[in-house]
Amino acid sequence: MHAHGYAAQSADSPLAPFHFERRDPGPGDVAIDILFCGVCHSDLHTARGEWGGTRFPCVPGHEIVGRVTAVGAEVTKFKVGDAVGVGCMVDSCRRCEPCNSGLEQYCENGFTGTYNGPEQGTGANTYGGYSDRITVREEFVLRVPEGMDLAAAAPLLCAGITTYSPLRHWRVGPGQKVGVVGLGGLGHMGLKLARAMGAEVTLFTTSPGKEADARRLGASRVVISRDPEQMAAVAGEFDFILNTVAAPLNLDPYIQALKTDGAMVLVGAPSEPHQSPGVFNLIMRRRTIAGSLIGGIPETQEMLDFCAEHGIVSDIETIAMADINQAYDRMLKSDVKYRFVIDMQTLKDELGH
Ligand SMILES: [Zn+2]
Ligand SMILES: [Zn+2]
Repeated sequence: MHAHGYAAQSADSPLAPFHFERRDPGPGDVAIDILFCGVCHSDLHTARGEWGGTRFPCVPGHEIVGRVTAVGAEVTKFKVGDAVGVGCMVDSCRRCEPCNSGLEQYCENGFTGTYNGPEQGTGANTYGGYSDRITVREEFVLRVPEGMDLAAAAPLLCAGITTYSPLRHWRVGPGQKVGVVGLGGLGHMGLKLARAMGAEVTLFTTSPGKEADARRLGASRVVISRDPEQMAAVAGEFDFILNTVAAPLNLDPYIQALKTDGAMVLVGAPSEPHQSPGVFNLIMRRRTIAGSLIGGIPETQEMLDFCAEHGIVSDIETIAMADINQAYDRMLKSDVKYRFVIDMQTLKDELGH
Protein backbone atom coordinates (compact mmCIF):
# COMPACT_ATOMS: atom_id res chain seq x y z
CA MET A 1 0.00 0.00 0.00
CA HIS A 2 1.06 3.54 -0.73
CA ALA A 3 2.45 5.62 2.14
CA HIS A 4 3.52 9.22 2.56
CA GLY A 5 6.08 10.56 4.94
CA TYR A 6 9.04 12.85 5.43
CA ALA A 7 12.51 11.56 4.65
CA ALA A 8 16.11 12.71 4.58
CA GLN A 9 17.62 11.80 1.21
CA SER A 10 21.18 12.26 2.49
CA ALA A 11 23.02 13.23 5.67
CA ASP A 12 23.07 16.91 4.72
CA SER A 13 19.60 17.30 3.23
CA PRO A 14 16.63 18.44 5.32
CA LEU A 15 13.62 16.19 5.78
CA ALA A 16 11.18 16.58 2.90
CA PRO A 17 8.02 14.86 1.60
CA PHE A 18 8.59 11.29 0.40
CA HIS A 19 6.31 8.64 -1.12
CA PHE A 20 6.95 4.93 -0.65
CA GLU A 21 5.29 1.53 -0.36
CA ARG A 22 4.37 -0.30 2.84
CA ARG A 23 3.64 -4.01 2.79
CA ASP A 24 -0.02 -5.03 2.81
CA PRO A 25 -0.84 -6.67 6.15
CA GLY A 26 0.08 -10.38 6.12
CA PRO A 27 -1.61 -12.97 8.39
CA GLY A 28 0.33 -11.80 11.50
CA ASP A 29 0.34 -8.07 10.75
CA VAL A 30 -1.46 -5.04 12.07
CA ALA A 31 -2.00 -2.03 9.78
CA ILE A 32 -1.94 1.27 11.65
CA ASP A 33 -3.10 4.78 10.77
CA ILE A 34 -0.46 6.96 12.48
CA LEU A 35 -1.93 9.79 14.55
CA PHE A 36 1.14 11.04 16.43
CA CYS A 37 4.87 10.47 16.38
CA GLY A 38 7.33 11.72 18.98
CA VAL A 39 10.64 13.28 17.96
CA CYS A 40 13.63 11.55 19.57
CA HIS A 41 17.27 12.68 19.49
CA SER A 42 18.08 9.39 17.74
CA ASP A 43 15.91 10.53 14.82
CA LEU A 44 18.08 13.59 14.30
CA HIS A 45 21.38 11.71 14.72
CA THR A 46 20.28 9.02 12.27
CA ALA A 47 18.78 11.39 9.68
CA ARG A 48 22.00 13.42 9.74
CA GLY A 49 24.20 10.31 9.56
CA GLU A 50 25.98 11.21 12.81
CA TRP A 51 26.17 7.67 14.16
CA GLY A 52 27.24 6.13 10.84
CA GLY A 53 25.32 3.34 9.13
CA THR A 54 22.31 5.41 8.06
CA ARG A 55 20.59 4.05 4.97
CA PHE A 56 18.97 6.73 2.85
CA PRO A 57 16.28 7.69 2.22
CA CYS A 58 15.67 7.76 5.98
CA VAL A 59 12.15 8.17 7.39
CA PRO A 60 12.73 8.55 11.16
CA GLY A 61 10.24 8.14 13.99
CA HIS A 62 9.93 5.44 16.66
CA GLU A 63 7.44 6.90 19.11
CA ILE A 64 4.31 6.01 17.19
CA VAL A 65 0.70 6.12 18.34
CA GLY A 66 -2.18 5.37 16.02
CA ARG A 67 -5.32 3.36 15.34
CA VAL A 68 -5.62 -0.09 13.85
CA THR A 69 -7.15 0.00 10.35
CA ALA A 70 -6.79 -3.69 9.43
CA VAL A 71 -5.52 -6.94 10.96
CA GLY A 72 -4.29 -10.18 9.39
CA ALA A 73 -6.21 -13.44 9.78
CA GLU A 74 -3.94 -14.74 12.58
CA VAL A 75 -3.96 -11.56 14.70
CA THR A 76 -5.64 -12.17 18.05
CA LYS A 77 -4.66 -9.25 20.31
CA PHE A 78 -5.90 -6.31 18.22
CA LYS A 79 -8.95 -5.28 16.25
CA VAL A 80 -9.82 -2.42 13.94
CA GLY A 81 -10.17 0.85 15.85
CA ASP A 82 -7.84 -0.04 18.76
CA ALA A 83 -5.43 2.64 19.98
CA VAL A 84 -1.94 1.18 19.63
CA GLY A 85 1.71 2.12 19.90
CA VAL A 86 4.92 1.12 18.15
CA GLY A 87 8.30 1.85 19.69
CA CYS A 88 11.89 1.40 18.55
CA MET A 89 11.55 -2.17 17.26
CA VAL A 90 9.27 -3.79 14.68
CA ASP A 91 10.83 -7.26 14.68
CA SER A 92 13.70 -9.42 15.97
CA CYS A 93 14.92 -12.96 15.29
CA ARG A 94 12.30 -14.32 17.77
CA ARG A 95 14.39 -17.45 18.56
CA CYS A 96 17.52 -16.41 20.50
CA GLU A 97 17.71 -16.44 24.30
CA PRO A 98 17.05 -12.71 24.83
CA CYS A 99 14.11 -12.83 22.37
CA ASN A 100 12.66 -15.84 24.19
CA SER A 101 12.99 -13.91 27.47
CA GLY A 102 11.12 -10.85 26.21
CA LEU A 103 14.34 -8.90 25.81
CA GLU A 104 14.08 -8.33 22.07
CA GLN A 105 16.17 -5.16 22.36
CA TYR A 106 19.17 -7.40 23.09
CA CYS A 107 18.41 -9.86 20.25
CA GLU A 108 21.65 -11.69 19.47
CA ASN A 109 20.91 -11.52 15.77
CA GLY A 110 19.99 -7.85 15.83
CA PHE A 111 16.48 -6.48 16.24
CA THR A 112 14.81 -4.66 13.37
CA GLY A 113 14.64 -0.96 14.09
CA THR A 114 11.36 0.77 13.33
CA TYR A 115 13.45 2.83 10.93
CA ASN A 116 16.87 2.18 9.39
CA GLY A 117 16.07 -1.61 9.53
CA PRO A 118 17.33 -4.00 8.41
CA GLU A 119 14.25 -6.17 7.95
CA GLN A 120 14.70 -9.80 9.14
CA GLY A 121 15.39 -12.07 6.18
CA THR A 122 15.27 -9.52 3.37
CA GLY A 123 17.70 -6.98 4.83
CA ALA A 124 15.51 -4.22 3.40
CA ASN A 125 15.45 -0.76 4.95
CA THR A 126 12.56 0.11 7.27
CA TYR A 127 10.70 3.43 7.34
CA GLY A 128 9.54 4.93 10.62
CA GLY A 129 6.74 6.97 12.07
CA TYR A 130 7.15 10.31 10.29
CA SER A 131 4.49 8.95 7.94
CA ASP A 132 0.77 8.42 7.59
CA ARG A 133 0.64 4.63 8.09
CA ILE A 134 2.69 1.60 9.04
CA THR A 135 2.36 -2.20 8.98
CA VAL A 136 3.83 -4.06 11.98
CA ARG A 137 3.90 -7.66 13.21
CA GLU A 138 1.37 -8.14 16.00
CA GLU A 139 4.09 -9.16 18.52
CA PHE A 140 5.66 -5.70 18.26
CA VAL A 141 2.47 -3.67 18.63
CA LEU A 142 1.59 -2.25 22.07
CA ARG A 143 -1.82 -1.57 23.53
CA VAL A 144 -2.32 2.09 24.52
CA PRO A 145 -4.45 2.01 27.67
CA GLU A 146 -7.96 3.44 27.53
CA GLY A 147 -8.22 7.15 28.31
CA MET A 148 -4.55 8.00 27.83
CA ASP A 149 -3.82 11.21 25.90
CA LEU A 150 -2.65 9.78 22.58
CA ALA A 151 -0.27 12.60 21.64
CA ALA A 152 1.38 12.74 25.06
CA ALA A 153 1.61 8.93 25.15
CA ALA A 154 3.78 8.78 22.02
CA PRO A 155 7.11 9.62 23.74
CA LEU A 156 6.50 6.82 26.24
CA LEU A 157 7.37 4.39 23.43
CA CYS A 158 11.05 5.42 23.52
CA ALA A 159 11.78 8.02 26.23
CA GLY A 160 9.36 6.31 28.63
CA ILE A 161 10.62 2.75 28.27
CA THR A 162 14.30 3.81 28.13
CA THR A 163 13.97 5.24 31.63
CA TYR A 164 11.41 2.76 33.02
CA SER A 165 13.42 -0.35 32.18
CA PRO A 166 16.57 0.44 34.22
CA LEU A 167 14.51 1.79 37.14
CA ARG A 168 12.68 -1.55 37.24
CA HIS A 169 15.70 -3.75 36.57
CA TRP A 170 17.60 -2.17 39.48
CA ARG A 171 14.44 -2.41 41.62
CA VAL A 172 13.96 1.25 42.43
CA GLY A 173 11.28 1.73 45.05
CA PRO A 174 10.17 3.33 48.31
CA GLY A 175 12.89 4.23 50.78
CA GLN A 176 15.48 4.72 48.06
CA LYS A 177 17.29 7.83 46.94
CA VAL A 178 17.44 8.15 43.18
CA GLY A 179 19.32 10.73 41.12
CA VAL A 180 18.41 11.65 37.56
CA VAL A 181 21.13 13.41 35.55
CA GLY A 182 19.89 15.79 32.86
CA LEU A 183 16.42 17.24 32.32
CA GLY A 184 15.48 16.59 28.69
CA GLY A 185 13.15 14.14 26.99
CA LEU A 186 14.59 11.19 28.93
CA GLY A 187 15.27 13.02 32.19
CA HIS A 188 11.78 14.41 32.60
CA MET A 189 10.37 10.89 32.22
CA GLY A 190 12.97 9.58 34.67
CA LEU A 191 11.79 12.06 37.31
CA LYS A 192 8.12 11.19 36.86
CA LEU A 193 8.66 7.42 36.84
CA ALA A 194 11.12 7.23 39.73
CA ARG A 195 8.78 9.36 41.85
CA ALA A 196 5.78 7.18 40.92
CA MET A 197 7.79 4.11 41.97
CA GLY A 198 8.07 5.67 45.42
CA ALA A 199 11.68 6.85 45.44
CA GLU A 200 12.96 10.18 46.74
CA VAL A 201 14.23 11.86 43.58
CA THR A 202 17.00 14.40 42.98
CA LEU A 203 17.72 16.11 39.68
CA PHE A 204 21.33 16.76 38.72
CA THR A 205 21.50 19.59 36.20
CA THR A 206 23.92 22.23 34.93
CA SER A 207 21.13 24.86 34.69
CA PRO A 208 19.84 26.51 37.88
CA GLY A 209 16.73 27.68 35.93
CA LYS A 210 15.26 24.19 35.93
CA GLU A 211 14.46 23.97 39.64
CA ALA A 212 10.73 24.79 39.49
CA ASP A 213 10.11 22.39 36.61
CA ALA A 214 12.11 19.64 38.28
CA ARG A 215 9.98 19.90 41.40
CA ARG A 216 6.77 19.87 39.39
CA LEU A 217 7.97 16.71 37.62
CA GLY A 218 8.75 14.85 40.84
CA ALA A 219 12.15 15.93 42.18
CA SER A 220 12.37 16.89 45.84
CA ARG A 221 15.82 18.41 45.36
CA VAL A 222 18.01 19.88 42.63
CA VAL A 223 21.81 19.64 42.63
CA ILE A 224 23.78 21.91 40.31
CA SER A 225 26.32 19.47 38.93
CA ARG A 226 28.79 22.20 37.91
CA ASP A 227 29.16 23.24 41.56
CA PRO A 228 31.83 21.01 43.19
CA GLU A 229 30.57 21.97 46.67
CA GLN A 230 27.02 20.83 45.91
CA MET A 231 28.36 17.58 44.42
CA ALA A 232 30.61 16.94 47.42
CA ALA A 233 27.66 17.53 49.75
CA VAL A 234 25.75 14.55 48.28
CA ALA A 235 28.67 12.07 48.30
CA GLY A 236 27.64 8.53 49.26
CA GLU A 237 23.89 9.31 49.25
CA PHE A 238 22.30 7.58 46.28
CA ASP A 239 21.09 4.03 45.74
CA PHE A 240 20.69 4.58 42.04
CA ILE A 241 21.54 7.23 39.46
CA LEU A 242 19.94 7.35 36.02
CA ASN A 243 22.27 9.26 33.74
CA THR A 244 20.52 10.58 30.62
CA VAL A 245 23.27 12.91 29.39
CA ALA A 246 24.28 12.33 25.76
CA ALA A 247 27.52 14.35 25.85
CA PRO A 248 30.98 13.36 27.10
CA LEU A 249 31.00 13.75 30.87
CA ASN A 250 33.23 13.30 33.90
CA LEU A 251 31.44 10.41 35.61
CA ASP A 252 33.49 10.46 38.82
CA PRO A 253 31.46 13.02 40.82
CA TYR A 254 28.31 10.97 40.15
CA ILE A 255 30.00 7.72 41.11
CA GLN A 256 31.10 9.37 44.34
CA ALA A 257 27.46 10.31 44.96
CA LEU A 258 26.53 6.60 45.07
CA LYS A 259 26.21 4.59 48.28
CA THR A 260 27.98 1.26 48.81
CA ASP A 261 26.53 -1.12 46.17
CA GLY A 262 24.92 1.82 44.39
CA ALA A 263 24.59 1.76 40.61
CA MET A 264 24.68 4.40 37.93
CA VAL A 265 23.05 3.44 34.65
CA LEU A 266 23.85 5.28 31.43
CA VAL A 267 21.02 5.66 28.92
CA GLY A 268 22.30 8.64 26.92
CA ALA A 269 24.47 7.82 23.91
CA PRO A 270 27.32 10.35 23.52
CA SER A 271 29.03 10.51 20.12
CA GLU A 272 32.43 10.78 21.91
CA PRO A 273 33.31 8.48 24.85
CA HIS A 274 33.05 9.64 28.45
CA GLN A 275 36.31 10.27 30.25
CA SER A 276 37.44 6.96 31.78
CA PRO A 277 36.16 6.79 35.39
CA GLY A 278 38.45 6.43 38.40
CA VAL A 279 38.51 2.75 39.34
CA PHE A 280 39.11 3.41 43.07
CA ASN A 281 35.71 5.09 43.28
CA LEU A 282 34.18 1.82 42.12
CA ILE A 283 36.32 -0.59 44.14
CA MET A 284 36.05 1.13 47.47
CA ARG A 285 32.26 0.86 47.71
CA ARG A 286 31.50 -1.94 45.23
CA ARG A 287 29.76 0.56 43.00
CA THR A 288 28.49 -0.29 39.50
CA ILE A 289 28.36 1.56 36.21
CA ALA A 290 26.03 -0.04 33.69
CA GLY A 291 24.16 0.73 30.49
CA SER A 292 20.62 0.00 29.38
CA LEU A 293 18.84 0.06 26.01
CA ILE A 294 15.10 0.82 25.70
CA GLY A 295 13.13 -2.22 26.98
CA GLY A 296 11.57 -5.45 25.69
CA ILE A 297 8.05 -5.69 24.35
CA PRO A 298 6.47 -7.20 27.53
CA GLU A 299 8.12 -4.53 29.68
CA THR A 300 7.04 -1.78 27.29
CA GLN A 301 3.43 -2.90 27.75
CA GLU A 302 3.98 -3.02 31.53
CA MET A 303 5.34 0.56 31.37
CA LEU A 304 2.31 1.82 29.44
CA ASP A 305 -0.02 0.17 31.97
CA PHE A 306 2.02 1.60 34.87
CA CYS A 307 1.83 5.09 33.32
CA ALA A 308 -1.94 4.79 32.85
CA GLU A 309 -2.36 3.68 36.46
CA HIS A 310 -0.26 6.60 37.75
CA GLY A 311 -1.58 9.24 35.33
CA ILE A 312 1.81 9.69 33.68
CA VAL A 313 2.40 10.89 30.13
CA SER A 314 5.15 12.98 28.55
CA ASP A 315 5.20 16.80 28.60
CA ILE A 316 4.93 17.65 24.94
CA GLU A 317 4.77 20.38 22.34
CA THR A 318 2.90 19.29 19.22
CA ILE A 319 4.21 20.39 15.85
CA ALA A 320 3.19 20.10 12.20
CA MET A 321 5.04 17.60 10.03
CA ALA A 322 6.34 20.45 7.85
CA ASP A 323 8.00 22.05 10.91
CA ILE A 324 10.26 19.08 11.62
CA ASN A 325 13.51 20.72 10.44
CA GLN A 326 12.94 23.74 12.71
CA ALA A 327 12.09 21.35 15.54
CA TYR A 328 15.45 19.61 15.07
CA ASP A 329 17.25 22.96 15.32
CA ARG A 330 15.35 23.80 18.50
CA MET A 331 16.02 20.34 19.93
CA LEU A 332 19.76 20.88 19.49
CA LYS A 333 19.41 24.00 21.65
CA SER A 334 17.37 22.05 24.23
CA ASP A 335 14.54 24.44 23.41
CA VAL A 336 11.70 21.99 24.03
CA LYS A 337 9.67 21.05 27.09
CA TYR A 338 10.19 18.16 26.90
CA ARG A 339 9.34 16.35 23.71
CA PHE A 340 8.13 17.38 20.29
CA VAL A 341 5.28 15.29 18.95
CA ILE A 342 4.24 15.47 15.30
CA ASP A 343 0.48 15.69 14.79
CA MET A 344 0.18 13.47 11.73
CA GLN A 345 -3.12 15.07 10.75
CA THR A 346 -0.94 17.96 9.50
CA LEU A 347 0.75 15.59 7.02
CA LYS A 348 -2.63 14.27 5.88
CA ASP A 349 -3.88 17.88 5.44
CA GLU A 350 -0.78 18.68 3.42
CA LEU A 351 -1.60 15.75 1.15
CA GLY A 352 -5.26 16.74 0.93
CA HIS A 353 -6.46 13.51 2.57
ZN1 LIG B 1 14.27 7.20 20.64
ZN1 LIG C 1 16.74 -12.68 18.85
